[in-house]
Amino acid sequence: MNNKILRDLTYGVYVVGSLDKDRFVGCIANSVMQITSNPATIAISINHDNYTNKCIKESNKFSVSILNEESNPNIIGTFGFSSSKDIDKYKDISYSVVDNLPVIKDSNGYITCQVISELETETHTIFIGQVLNMDKYDDKMVMTYKFYHEVLKGSSPKKAPTYIEDIVEEIKGNRWKCMICGYIYEGEELPLDFKCPICGQGVEAFEKVN
Ligand code: FE
Repeated sequence: MNNKILRDLTYGVYVVGSLDKDRFVGCIANSVMQITSNPATIAISINHDNYTNKCIKESNKFSVSILNEESNPNIIGTFGFSSSKDIDKYKDISYSVVDNLPVIKDSNGYITCQVISELETETHTIFIGQVLNMDKYDDKMVMTYKFYHEVLKGSSPKKAPTYIEDIVEEIKGNRWKCMICGYIYEGEELPLDFKCPICGQGVEAFEKVN
């Protein structure tokens, strides 16, 4: 089997937000699809191990913010590579509250949903949501998973539906890998003041890889 073909399916990069009682939580999702337009209904796929999964099940609500190519990659670092169980991911992120759900301002817009159905797979829950509200802030190129991977040189955390273990890219020269988010820096030397453009970690988070 050649699983590289899975990279030819199109995926976006989305922030899924939800509620943990009176606290906002969220994570990154690659898989969001529209099911019907009337009534507007969408589906998202969230790993069982994401704290946000549990919070969507308890609150029966979620939001989706649609990131664009100019959205700050730090948003992906914050929401994709740490757990809402441990930190307040919204602390340094500009957001609004719609239907008591957090939505990211630095995006093309948002959709808020009430969960109407759930489907379990071995690793992920597919939540089907009826749209409560939506708005479009901007008309920039939406961030696709391919753009994130190839232009921002980001990787998927193991919990992402798009994570593929045995795809190894061919890269020439030296490279250092961010051990937090998987970002690869290529060059002769890693500058001492380098900060990971995805998750913001300094050089201490990087390890030289072959
Ligand atoms: Fe990083």
